[in-house]
Amino acid sequence: MKAEIIAVGSELLTPDRMDTNSLFLTEELNKLGIEVVRKTIVGDHRELLAEAFRDALNRVPLIIASGGLGPTEDDLTRETLAELLGRKLILNDAILRYIEGRFRQLGREMPSVNVRQAMVPEGAEVLENPRGSAPGLWLEDKGRLIALLPGPPRELKPMYEEQVLPRLERRRSGVRMFHRELRVAGMGESAVEQRIRPIYTRYSDVKTTILAAPGEIQIHLRIWTEDIAYAQKTLDEIVQGFELALTDRIFSKDGSSMEEVIARLLTMNKATISAAESCTGGLLAQRLTSIAGSSSYFLGSVVCYSNELKSAWVNVPAELIQSKGAVSSEVAVALAEGIRRSVGSTLGVGITGIAGPGGGSDEKPVGTVHVALAHAGGVKERGVRFPGDREAIRWHASQLALDMVRLHFLYNGGDSPPRGVKRA
Ligand code: ATP
Ligand code: MG
Repeated sequence: MKAEIIAVGSELLTPDRMDTNSLFLTEELNKLGIEVVRKTIVGDHRELLAEAFRDALNRVPLIIASGGLGPTEDDLTRETLAELLGRKLILNDAILRYIEGRFRQLGREMPSVNVRQAMVPEGAEVLENPRGSAPGLWLEDKGRLIALLPGPPRELKPMYEEQVLPRLERRRSGVRMFHRELRVAGMGESAVEQRIRPIYTRYSDVKTTILAAPGEIQIHLRIWTEDIAYAQKTLDEIVQGFELALTDRIFSKDGSSMEEVIARLLTMNKATISAAESCTGGLLAQRLTSIAGSSSYFLGSVVCYSNELKSAWVNVPAELIQSKGAVSSEVAVALAEGIRRSVGSTLGVGITGIAGPGGGSDEKPVGTVHVALAHAGGVKERGVRFPGDREAIRWHASQLALDMVRLHFLYNGGDSPPRGVKRA
């Protein structure tokens, strides 16, 4: 089954408010095998709202709308839809008593405008709203299903779960959506696309989406079918194909973030980590500590921005900074080894670079970053030039550092690299 979502509210068309209800609804509908084929955001405007509903009714058998059920002049969803379907609005006594009761509990008289919320289009079912005043509505019209839900997410979500979901489940076919997500680091979107395209284009019933996120590419696979075994087999096949095409660039196959993957690797290997960060200013530490329980592997990090503190805190020789420059592979290595030694962690990370916009030169342009990872068997270092603005460069640098930790465990487990592996 296909569905559309209509988010109603002029505030959703400003920079101040975002339509998050449709994200929730899409995820929920997908779980039932219902595909959301279009979302519309429309302001509190009678003609535009009527047009949105009319068009959606011509296209799909299920429409879920949110917002515009309140008591004020600009809440038009109920009236507009009733008019569009040619249904009279009838005062529902039970709702009226309920709303009056809510006001009484608050020690107030119900304002007369709230009577509008007790108006129900002929033939509609009322979806009770114990968390707010506006009830939702469920309508069926010429085989099409329409749910009108209140805008506030804390009212919409339980109303969906308690009252819309059971109604949809009664009608649902056996078709469900099956989903896989792979995440890739250290490759651009087009490079990923180029490598996996020959694989996924062979499966016409699988929808493949490639999303670029900061420092990583996410690949989503979705298939709609009644046949669980077929879905698993097909998705397994594609994932295996992707693994051959992307090899060690895939860092996650279950939706885990890079931080979560690193947390698992460090914990599994009973390893600890520390860092000396220059250009990332603590971003690596922030990301490592965003995971609950990180104190068992993250010992600490210093932000040594000035040359003096690189020497004073992490024992980077002043002559080295002088001769090679603060942004150099040698200084990254010295930072990594220095922090590892002084903290006594299994791994030490050093990051130095030029995040810009100023400070670049011909030899070391903005975006130049050196990351080093010191371990018991030695040290690995990578020098990279990242694109983007200051924020992007800093994020990429932290992502590279985390990815180097990942590859260290992937290839070394312990330490010496297997033959033929030169990476990082
Ligand atoms: P109320 O009785 O509260 O007026 P309503 O159904 O009229 O309910 P709206 O007035 O449209 O709902 O929205 C109320 C609030 O809910 C808005 O201020 C907005 O913050 C939030 N909201 C509305 N629509 C959405 C949406 N699509 N996603 C996230 N939040 C929303
Ligand atoms: Mg409103």
